[in-house]
Amino acid sequence: MGGSTALQVARSGMRPILLDQGDLGQGASGVNAGTLSLQIKRVKLMPYALRGHHEWEAMGDTVGFRKTGGYTVAFTEREVELLHERQAQKAEAGAPITFVSDNALRAAEPNLSHKVLAASFCPEDGYANSSLTGQYYRARLRDNAIPYLEHSPVVDISQDQSGFALVTPQGSVRAKRVLLAAGAWLKPVAAMLGVDLPVQARINTVSVTERMPPLTSHVIGHATGLLTMKQKANGTVLVGGGWQGRGTPQDGRGEVMANSVVPNLALAQFALPQLSQARVLRSWTGFEANVPDFYPLAGALPGVENAYVLGCVRGGYTIGPYIGKLMGDYILEREPELPLFDPGRDFNEDTI
Ligand SMILES: Cc1cc2nc3c(=O)[nH]c(=O)nc-3n(C[C@H](O)[C@H](O)[C@H](O)COP(=O)(O)OP(=O)(O)OC[C@H]3O[C@@H](n4cnc5c(N)ncnc54)[C@H](O)[C@@H]3O)c2cc1C
Repeated sequence: MGGSTALQVARSGMRPILLDQGDLGQGASGVNAGTLSLQIKRVKLMPYALRGHHEWEAMGDTVGFRKTGGYTVAFTEREVELLHERQAQKAEAGAPITFVSDNALRAAEPNLSHKVLAASFCPEDGYANSSLTGQYYRARLRDNAIPYLEHSPVVDISQDQSGFALVTPQGSVRAKRVLLAAGAWLKPVAAMLGVDLPVQARINTVSVTERMPPLTSHVIGHATGLLTMKQKANGTVLVGGGWQGRGTPQDGRGEVMANSVVPNLALAQFALPQLSQARVLRSWTGFEANVPDFYPLAGALPGVENAYVLGCVRGGYTIGPYIGKLMGDYILEREPELPLFDPGRDFNEDTI
């Protein structure tokens, strides 16, 4: 998200510099499941997700973008109800989601379990390859002569009349304005400016199988949101769904927990029985940030002039490149195309 904002402000002549504590795109943006599915986005974020999709489509092959279409399936009467309720709301909010007949599902995805009771379809759904995020943004920053410093953790920020000083072990950087786009590390970074943001981190798990013969050609999700699955062009199957590992962003990498990977894979196998033949090559975790109302932080940092914050976006891989541009417009003092999300709001009220 920081990379997207940097590109947007540079287009209007600002001279941004990016500081990252590690390699660019090695936070959540580089380890996520890469699902670009409108069916798993929050209803109120649908206009942002639709525009986010268009951003990824424009990036195309350089980020491994594939528009496969996606099915979300339900196995029980309760899940069917949930599917209808959730997807109907999303369709109303502008996503081209329809409910499909059993025959249509069988024709499109013959290997899916016969226990599927109902399914919805969205032709816009697809995926990109999150391990290419850093590479993509590094190249765009270079193309636009925007400097970036990797392995430069910001350990202190101070403000005086001429702006901010950001301290890293390699030296200090001065800036008139600062955008905090530190993902799951936002809380300690905002604390450097004396602001307490109610940011929490979730520790999501993703797994990948060995290469398999063609099993599925769409993004597959589950009505509860507890499964996302897609088979990549090389035959590997990527399985996610927000199952939790253990650890904190401050401790470095999170830990994969067998008691959450096993049910995640069991659900995947229930949906696609031939997965029982596949060996899992690797499971890993990444940190995703959120605030209590699960809406983004995107706007001015409360109480600190010329400081801004961007993060905590549910489905932030999909929406990130777009909301990053909106943030850029806000910093440029232009009216953003869609409203931002005030980081100074009351998080316990539904004020959005
Ligand atoms: C495992 C997993 C699976 C997910 N799957 C999906 C999905 O399928 N689809 C989807 O839409 N979304 C998904 N998400 C959510 C999505 O990945 C995130 O919402 C999004 O990538 C967040 O982007 P960001 O730029 O805010 O944060 P990050 O990508 O985490 O970037 C924050 C950056 O800040 C840097 N930083 C932190 N502290 C400092 C400091 N002190 N100094 C300098 N730099 C610092 C970090 O190094 C990092 O590069 C998933 C998340 C996870 C973790």
